[in-house]
Amino acid sequence: MNIKTATIKDLQTALESGAETAVSLAEKYLAAIEADTTDSFLGVYDDVLQQAKAADARREKGESGPLLGIPLAVKDNMLITGKPVSAGSKILEDYKAPYTATALKKLQESGVVFLGRTNMDEFAMGSSTEHSAYQVTKNPHDEARVPGGSSGGSAAAVAAGLVPAALGSDTGGSVRQPASFCGVVGFKPTYGAVSRYGLIAMGSSLDQIGPLTRSVADAELLFSATRGQDPLDSTTYGSDTYSEPTAAPKKIGVPRAFIDADGVDPVVKENFAIALTKLERAGYELVDVQIDILSEALAMYYIIMPAEVSSNLARYDGVTYGLRTDDTDLFTQYVHTRRDGFGPEVKRRLLLGTYVLSTGYYDAYYRTAVRARRVLEAAFTKVFSTVDAIATPTTPAPAFKIGEKSADPLEMYIQDIFTVGANIGGIPAISIPSGTTEVEGKELPLGLQLMADKNHESILFTIGKGFENECL
Ligand code: GLN
Repeated sequence: MNIKTATIKDLQTALESGAETAVSLAEKYLAAIEADTTDSFLGVYDDVLQQAKAADARREKGESGPLLGIPLAVKDNMLITGKPVSAGSKILEDYKAPYTATALKKLQESGVVFLGRTNMDEFAMGSSTEHSAYQVTKNPHDEARVPGGSSGGSAAAVAAGLVPAALGSDTGGSVRQPASFCGVVGFKPTYGAVSRYGLIAMGSSLDQIGPLTRSVADAELLFSATRGQDPLDSTTYGSDTYSEPTAAPKKIGVPRAFIDADGVDPVVKENFAIALTKLERAGYELVDVQIDILSEALAMYYIIMPAEVSSNLARYDGVTYGLRTDDTDLFTQYVHTRRDGFGPEVKRRLLLGTYVLSTGYYDAYYRTAVRARRVLEAAFTKVFSTVDAIATPTTPAPAFKIGEKSADPLEMYIQDIFTVGANIGGIPAISIPSGTTEVEGKELPLGLQLMADKNHESILFTIGKGFENECL
């Protein structure tokens, strides 16, 4: 077995047969991380072998389970008691988590071995991981290029073979876009399916924890291990909130006008056309759908998200968490802590968010965006009464070069055009590798995105596995 390409299911078989132990696997992945050239990890946890030994001891006592002894990496914005967690920011540089996130606690109970924390754009704001306060992660397919973001460390780690799977968080595409750039599967659940308790907040009405994996089946496995109503997150929903799919999926909607827009790289359009033929070969009927408001999702996102960011990040004032400058008067301390602790992209969004919420602009921007959001939600509901899923490319272009877009925030924001709709609508979405395109002598991955109605994740997994089979 090659640990660099093994799926969770492969590792599980090796653990069950006794060919590997949790300790032997952890040692192999730790060695791979040690030799890494992509700078995917911000740190390895200090108790990896202890965790692995505990998993082996559980197996020796007769326990089994699909995740018992499986190593996993965690984006640097999820809390594990006593472990450093910085959200890629200087403001939380020496911060240690006081409790464990619900989703991670569930994984711990399933016997997962957490290897370490992965690099990310500061507070999950970005599409390239270049906004990390610590390091720039490189795309394993071409180290001159970005891995995408903001979960770029998690995506690069899975693609580089440093870990079989990793957790990311997706507010506007931060699991799916880096998955697409790195050639792995990235999945964002229905809003409220997975608890956000212990996930450092970016945009609370948009954030969801999701897995980055080497197969659709592994994404499904991690989703079922982390989902569920949580008394500590009142936005999680119960089993009776949304209906379940009643029949196997048949029809896939294609919003052609949206995809044919200017600015979408011709190689992406070509790859997407091939992906559609594969979906047809897998037995699905393709129908054109028109969702005019979908192209406005990006505008809604860049109003609603910064508004929520400005509110969520108000807590970093030097008093309760992390960095504190040693000024003697309180006001100057607030100002200097935030000046020194936050990077330029975070500050830009704080300004934008404060502006759209300010008296005089609230109605024009924030309220209008929230109204438009309801229109998009209604449009999705209508479309999902006629099709089982919607297909689009995940990104408008393959991975760009490090430094290429960092000076132009708007260029960076356009990266999110296909992914933000699912967050604004609260619906589940998955990115699945759809082949590669050759750019300057390197094979760069591209991704197919599928979206479904709320709580219809199973549709994405079914279609996704069919698509994967056609890509073999
Ligand atoms: N790229 C998007 C942004 O910068 C998405 C971020 C995310 O999903 N966390 O806002």
